[in-house]
Amino acid sequence: MFTRITESPEQTAALAVLVGKRIREGTVVCMEGDLGAGKTLFVRHLAHTLGVEGEVTSPTFSLMNIYEGICPILHFDLYRLETEEQLEDIGFFEYTEEPEGIVLIEWSDKFPEAMPEEYVKVVFERTGASPEERRITFSCVGGKNEDFLEELEEFCQS
Ligand code: ADP
Ligand code: MG
Repeated sequence: MFTRITESPEQTAALAVLVGKRIREGTVVCMEGDLGAGKTLFVRHLAHTLGVEGEVTSPTFSLMNIYEGICPILHFDLYRLETEEQLEDIGFFEYTEEPEGIVLIEWSDKFPEAMPEEYVKVVFERTGASPEERRITFSCVGGKNEDFLEELEEFCQS
């Protein structure tokens, strides 16, 4: 587990770019944090680093966006999700159990039991020190992403 403090949206964007340069195909990233914490901003810059062109916005109503970058990028937002059945309807489990591209999930903590066994967790919190300060904590659930997380911690020192 490691933590980074960002003091502006630009700094969070820069962190997302670093993650985008290192993230491996087949990785699921689950993001937690209140409304406005910075999850979508992070996804946007991560997706652009992975070659996605055009707009990246929260799929709050559609639940899922699919982008083409250097690999397929699936962007979920579970904020308005009511039942796990809706996840089945959109094929969530096919996408997350053996992910072919990169899967990015906002509000994963709303349906923790629906998450795969292995994922990288990113938690966004306002520190309260200033309106723009965020604490961003990376950890992994399951063993698969441990190496990646260690590599990322080193890479994100810069
Ligand atoms: P979420 O998807 O978590 O609901 P968004 O990424 O849509 O949040 O919005 C985050 C908002 O907070 C943006 O308007 C962004 O400019 C602002 N913001 C202010 N400081 C930061 C920061 N340090 N990191 C990320 N976003 C920040
Ligand atoms: Mg969002």
